[in-house]
Amino acid sequence: MPPSNAAETGAGVLPAPPHAPPSLPAEALQTRRRERKKMLPFVAASYAIDTALLCAYFAVGVIPWQMPPAYLASGLMLCAALHLVLDSGLPERTRDHHLVIEQMVANAALAMAFLLWTPQVGVPLMMGCFIIFAFGALRMKFRSVVFGSTALALAMGLVVAFFGEGVGLPMATPAQRIVSGLWFAVVLSRLAFLGQHGAHLRALLNEQRARLAGALAEVERLASRDDLTAVMNRRAIMATVGEERDRMRRTGAAFAVALFDIDFFKRVNDERGHLVGDEVLRRFCAAAGEAIRGTDRLGRFGGEEFLVLMPATDKADAAHAAAERVRDAVAKVDWDRIDAGLEVTVSAGVAVATAEDTVEALLGRADMALYAAKHEGRNRVRSA
Ligand code: GH3
Ligand code: MG
Ligand code: MG
Repeated sequence: MPPSNAAETGAGVLPAPPHAPPSLPAEALQTRRRERKKMLPFVAASYAIDTALLCAYFAVGVIPWQMPPAYLASGLMLCAALHLVLDSGLPERTRDHHLVIEQMVANAALAMAFLLWTPQVGVPLMMGCFIIFAFGALRMKFRSVVFGSTALALAMGLVVAFFGEGVGLPMATPAQRIVSGLWFAVVLSRLAFLGQHGAHLRALLNEQRARLAGALAEVERLASRDDLTAVMNRRAIMATVGEERDRMRRTGAAFAVALFDIDFFKRVNDERGHLVGDEVLRRFCAAAGEAIRGTDRLGRFGGEEFLVLMPATDKADAAHAAAERVRDAVAKVDWDRIDAGLEVTVSAGVAVATAEDTVEALLGRADMALYAAKHEGRNRVRSA
């Protein structure tokens, strides 16, 4: 009986691209090469198991003694040849570098050759082809399964129809029936193994997908964070403001923004150094983060400017009060603990979105209000 595998499945769960990109790095090529040889030991083991059963058929007087060793030798030689081919760079030039169809044809042809020699064990040998097909199907695309398997089955059918006189299943004596039963059992267990292998591949695929989704979420999280302060970065907070504006257009739910700018921050840097300046930015974010509502969003707009988005806030008073809470919280921070004598305040400009606002227009108004707060002496909140 031919081996249980022509199709190599391997650990590469994701389907291989139809053509290997010529620029594939050497390491990736090495992995592909390893992968496509992975099932060969199972194929060889399969030939060995079948040979043991063929020996049993010889023992119960069905086939000549030469057949089992010839079958094993041919099977192992086929495996060795496949190993040489799969180990070379040759498969990289083909559409399917696993050479699934080619392996299926080679193994099925071997089974057919032995079927012609010893048709009395023709049915067991043909059963092996079921396994070849099933293994192949694990790796093939649906179209290849339909066309490839149909062509192979037709070819085998023709061989059996025209040359397979006497193709049979040894059942004449109890001993022969036992060996044939054993053969059935071995074929069935191999099919079960195949099913398990398919399930394993599916599980691996799901696991990979979950890991990728996790990694993607982490990448997205990192890409939306400001390195220094860990609040949302400009891109992320701007995108969130854009989404809020879109929601307002759909549902009419108004929102407000507050633009904060640390007062005389350049002086902090100049007089106390950038490290103190950085710490001030972090501490500001911690204080502001605690002072805003859970549904509000804080982002670093740039330098020492921060933007707070306040969803579901349509009253200028409420937005102003929220910004005032942040300003107050910042003024009350124990800045002295960061650097002796340090005092930090912040100014803010608040604007409530209107139905026809663009993000730019809204932020422009908040910026104007911030400018007014600075102009009027800093450490205060002004509304547009
Ligand atoms: P005003 O009250 O008018 O806002 O005065 P200001 O000094 O805060 O204004 P200005 O815009 O002139 O200064 C902002 C400073 O923020 C200048 C820049 O070096 C500093 N800065 C920007 N980003 C960072 C940062 O990541 N770390 C530190 N330490 N400083 C930064
Ligand atoms: Mg500034
Ligand atoms: Mg400033």
